[in-house]
Amino acid sequence: AIPLVVAISTAVSAQNGLLIRNRTAFEDSRKITALLFDKTGTLTKGDFGVTRIVSVDKQFSEDELLRLAVALEQSSEHPIAVGIVRKAKENKVTIPKPEKFNAITGKGVEAIVEGKNVKVVSPGYLKDKKIELPADAYSSEAETVVFIIIDDKLAGYIALADEIRPESAEAIMVFKKNGIKVLMATGDNDKVAKAVSDKLGLDGYFAEVLPHQKVEIIKDLQSKGEFVAMTGDGVNDAPALAQSDVGIAVGSGTDVAAETADIILVNSNPHDIANLILFGKATYSKMI
Ligand code: ADP
Ligand code: MG
Repeated sequence: AIPLVVAISTAVSAQNGLLIRNRTAFEDSRKITALLFDKTGTLTKGDFGVTRIVSVDKQFSEDELLRLAVALEQSSEHPIAVGIVRKAKENKVTIPKPEKFNAITGKGVEAIVEGKNVKVVSPGYLKDKKIELPADAYSSEAETVVFIIIDDKLAGYIALADEIRPESAEAIMVFKKNGIKVLMATGDNDKVAKAVSDKLGLDGYFAEVLPHQKVEIIKDLQSKGEFVAMTGDGVNDAPALAQSDVGIAVGSGTDVAAETADIILVNSNPHDIANLILFGKATYSKMI
């Protein structure tokens, strides 16, 4: 016979955009005391529109920055890349062909374009390399900013805006009612992270986080007695998903992260996790 829990978890997942890969994950979901969310595409829509292109090194015009950046971003699936490619299409940019394209894990992308080493990277990368942030980069709290580095010098930046998912606030209310701490870890800058955290009333957030730091954040929470679930996407979140007590991979789940995950959140919707936890609690309170 099929164990009851398997039958139930299959039914729950089928209806709610979840793939439960691990038999104990459904059981474990009711033990969760802390949930660590990623931001982009999970708490937010992950649908970026370019709001500003700013030249820092006047050698490079805004059009030139967009042209060079999109040469790299056409090969990336990151939501930021999708936004930049859309902008380039709108502007009918002729896209140069990059050589030696490389994704810098959790930090951005790089390639050789027309003989120049071009990078499009996170604020964390700048911090790492001790490159000073341009003063006007964060003039709006709602903007995500990526930096264009040409031959190791900051050439300019592109600001983009994303929106909070309408389902996020409702899901967070469910978690809070159930005594679950809701936290966020993002590679994005502090200002954007704080704005999202404040709007959603999160219990805390970590900004400008590099992928390996997510593992440390989870270990730290676990050492304080928390039973930690986390959401993550992409190859770079795989170690953190493995470290967490319930690893939830977002999106289609065809990448490496999905293999380390206990659960796949097919529609990247936080509300589906709320349903899972509620259903898990209801099921086990009836069974015991
Ligand atoms: P997040 O899901 O928080 O965006 P990621 O680990 O996917 O975290 O990326 C971390 C950061 O690296 C992003 O916030 C962005 O600043 C930068 N980044 C990653 N990929 C790209 C890309 N293709 N183009 C520009 N920046 C990128
Ligand atoms: Mg990500």
